[in-house]
Amino acid sequence: MKPSPAASAPAGHGPASAPVDLLRRLRARGAGDPVTHVERVPARAGVPAPWPPWAPTELRAAFARRGVVAPWRHQAEAATLAYEGGHVVVATGTASGKSLAYQLPALATLLADPRATVLYLAPTKALAADQLRAVAELELEGVRPACYDGDTPRAEREWIRRHSRFVLTNPDMLHHGILPGHAQWSGFLRRLAYVVIDECHTYRGVFGSHVAHVLRRLRRQCARFGATPVFVLASATSGDPATAAGRLTGLPVTAVTEDASPRGGVTFALWEPPLLPPDSGSSSPVPPQATGDHDDLHQVRRSALRETADLLADTVSEGVRTLAFVRSRKGAEVVAANARRALDDAVPGLGDRVAAYRGGYLREERRELERALLHGDLLGLASTNALELGVDLVGLDAVLICGYPGTRASLWQQAGRAGRSGQEALAVLVARDDPLDTYLVHHPEAIFGAPVEATVLDPANPYVLTPQLACAAAEAPLTPADLALFGDGAKEAVDELVAAGALRQRPTGWYWRHRERPDVDLRGEGGAPVCVVESSTGRLLGTVDGGSSHFLLHPGAVYLHQGVSYVVDELDLADGCALVHAEEPDWSTHARDVTDLSVVSVRSYVDAGPVGMFLGEVDVTSQVVSYQRRRIATGEVIDTRPLDLPTRELRTVAVWFTLSPQSLTSAGVQTSDVPGALHAAEHAAIGLLPLMATCDRWDIGGLSTALHPDTEAPTVFVYDGHPGGAGFAERAYGTASAWLRATRDAIAECGCETGCPSCVQSPKCGNGNNPLSKPDAIRVLDVVLANLPT
Ligand SMILES: [Zn+2]
Ligand SMILES: [Zn+2]
Repeated sequence: MKPSPAASAPAGHGPASAPVDLLRRLRARGAGDPVTHVERVPARAGVPAPWPPWAPTELRAAFARRGVVAPWRHQAEAATLAYEGGHVVVATGTASGKSLAYQLPALATLLADPRATVLYLAPTKALAADQLRAVAELELEGVRPACYDGDTPRAEREWIRRHSRFVLTNPDMLHHGILPGHAQWSGFLRRLAYVVIDECHTYRGVFGSHVAHVLRRLRRQCARFGATPVFVLASATSGDPATAAGRLTGLPVTAVTEDASPRGGVTFALWEPPLLPPDSGSSSPVPPQATGDHDDLHQVRRSALRETADLLADTVSEGVRTLAFVRSRKGAEVVAANARRALDDAVPGLGDRVAAYRGGYLREERRELERALLHGDLLGLASTNALELGVDLVGLDAVLICGYPGTRASLWQQAGRAGRSGQEALAVLVARDDPLDTYLVHHPEAIFGAPVEATVLDPANPYVLTPQLACAAAEAPLTPADLALFGDGAKEAVDELVAAGALRQRPTGWYWRHRERPDVDLRGEGGAPVCVVESSTGRLLGTVDGGSSHFLLHPGAVYLHQGVSYVVDELDLADGCALVHAEEPDWSTHARDVTDLSVVSVRSYVDAGPVGMFLGEVDVTSQVVSYQRRRIATGEVIDTRPLDLPTRELRTVAVWFTLSPQSLTSAGVQTSDVPGALHAAEHAAIGLLPLMATCDRWDIGGLSTALHPDTEAPTVFVYDGHPGGAGFAERAYGTASAWLRATRDAIAECGCETGCPSCVQSPKCGNGNNPLSKPDAIRVLDVVLANLPT
């Protein structure tokens, strides 16, 4: 069966063998077989439960009109726990109907008590919009659900505050808008019965720690008005959801984890793009065999972006409705553009059925793309993870995941997009040239066997706690009783704010002294987002978070928006704005930074003979200093251009290990090769840390040196890229031997000879990946592993 390219109905309602056949055709197209593993995730039958006796007939009938005849067992269990007043987290798979688990108790309460209100928090506006649609479609009398976010017109806001009883928003709006304006919200907060926190596993690291305090601020305001709402959380499956939800809310939370929903089978393929011949990435006319000098030659894999674009074009040309997840906004634009080009070459006009989607688009653009995919005007969509979070798209037959998305929870969330309506589907993980991806496609047990990792957050980080206490004090004076609510370190943080003149202590508590509210960004040290503005028209194209702006919006950077390419003329950090003009050069840009590091204090260490393993505070100074221009078609480096951007300073937490020079000599590492050995081990270790902790490799930095002044030994540092740390380095220290074992295996198992981006090269290395010694990195890690207790 081969649907015609113009087929408008979703494909995939064919036999169970359809995804297997599709995969067979996809893998037969190139030379060699890129598939390293195929896992068949079998279909599962659902276990229904009766409607809970407390669920009103009117509500049951409303759900029945939407096709819900009875809840699944986990939905009924979680709903009843919440209805009876317990805080609950439901942690089950994608498309398992987590929303019914909170809609049922929340809406039953709204129907029973005409004054009660519900606050729903989503990490993305798209998810909130989707939930709004779902609740509005129930057409329940008097609920008046409404989204209240940055897109909500001013004119509608007062109406929502006064009349909506089901407000959907996000943590940023709660932090910047609702809590500081609690006086205007007092009617709503006084009657607040439920707080729903959807996709709560996304609140991790520094952002998660901030959100934890925003929720404590919410609880404090509710308590001032006499309300004690029940918290209902929804999470992707994870290692210990009750503990993570408890840390996030500060409340005891019961977990419901037995997924009783049915699902179709998924054929899951791990796909490793082939290594290219050593110099095929350059435009050099010299054939590969004629070049004897390997020093300047970097063997590379075919890029995951190009591989994903080809796969997307192939599936769309077969009429298969496909979603491609690409980690970066740039990447999603490139995949969509390349797939469109390939399709138009085959059938002019067919490229129109592929588009790109990412979070930074303006409201109208986002809605239009969601609608087009829902209605089948689009067959292929390349998206960043903005679409990962529960937007209710049905009828997807294939999901392409371009690069491991950083956590197993995200991977399953993305793969779970396929086969939503119960049909058989295909998921393909395309490995990037990255050490973690290399490890995973050769260790399928790490994906299909191991439990998902626990969510890491640290509300006690003083860089989070102190500004959050300032926000709380600006909302209402802090009392001694409040300090217990905010947890460990709250008293020290308050003392610091008093000493800094921000708070004044009076007999009744601590008072905020300034007229303006504190300016606190929930997303870490990044500062306010930078606006991207087209200089000729003044049009706002989108926004980029402050932390990424030095990398993405430096002068000369190529910035892609909806497939249209812009070049940055000026980055004005003071105004938080980048001026760009439309231009389509045939190169991409890649920024690099340099780093300096000093040890402030040691928190914990392991003395393992010639090897030392440490956890402690460090000061890091980093600066984006230059950028490379590379040909889009070949990846060839055109040139490297200097940049003049300010340094960024960071007091954070690091894990580091030292080795004695003698142990390196005995292991066969020449003194002259020590810097290259440590540098290569550092790059790969950074790349593998996301296997152990719920972090992104871009959240982590590193530094290696043959002699560090503070340790007086050859040393490799890996640090949290956020002020005060976010728990990542701490997790690395706690799992050091497993982490470095995986690092060693990823390097050893890479098929390249002298090191490549799949093992020891780093795309953001400030030293241009020089020096690097792949074989000596394995020797260094063998010395560490031989001495370190497991
Ligand atoms: Zn390699
Ligand atoms: Zn480096």
